[in-house]
Amino acid sequence: SSMFGKPRASSERPPQSALPECNVAILGCRGAGKSGETGRAGHRGAAARGHLSHLPLSPPAALTVKFLTKRFISEYDPNLEDTYSSEELVDQQPVLLKVMDTADQDGPGNCERYLCWASAFLVVYSIDSRKSFEGCQRYLEVLALHARGCQRRCPVLLLGNKLDMEQYRQVLSAEGMSLASRFGCLFHEVSACQDFARVQHVFHEAVREVRRQ
Ligand code: GDP
Ligand code: MG
Repeated sequence: SSMFGKPRASSERPPQSALPECNVAILGCRGAGKSGETGRAGHRGAAARGHLSHLPLSPPAALTVKFLTKRFISEYDPNLEDTYSSEELVDQQPVLLKVMDTADQDGPGNCERYLCWASAFLVVYSIDSRKSFEGCQRYLEVLALHARGCQRRCPVLLLGNKLDMEQYRQVLSAEGMSLASRFGCLFHEVSACQDFARVQHVFHEAVREVRRQ
């Protein structure tokens, strides 16, 4: 448009494309809680599945579902990888939030698909798994390397999930905080199966960070 000098008025555009977009990729080792509960699934899982069945979604990540539907879905395919979108109001401003639930087999590898796509990253571990925490460091390193390579600085949020598993905690909050500060990211602890407000807050924080860029 700059070639012809005259920018198009926003009112000429269809409403959908007028909505600013924010692409959030959810990364982390398998089992971190991006997608479902097997052990304690039981009745809750069945109920949640029933609730979701009318939605035009295939089953996404625990965090993603929690955020999009306020429900926790406990069982789904660990290999499933998909992108979901939702119109959100963040600080009274609308945004089309797209969430990519990634399903890496074993840590980062073949990352281009989300490195190029995302405007922000949620790196997730489970507070009851030291291994998942260590996996996060590898994701953070990949993201830091990528940020150095391109001019664009994408916000990264480190997320300790399964806060409801406090009695099995293997990773201290302080360790999460210090890892986050080492990589210059925000840090939160949440429970995908309990607290909708906190999960929503994290997604909205990601949008705010992107807007600050
Ligand atoms: P992913 O591989 O990161 O997508 O992990 P999943 O979302 O499949 O979750 C792995 C397991 O953790 C499943 O059994 C989930 O139901 C369970 N899970 C996910 N989030 C939570 C949570 O917040 N609390 C608890 N207790 N379990 C969770
Ligand atoms: Mg998954």
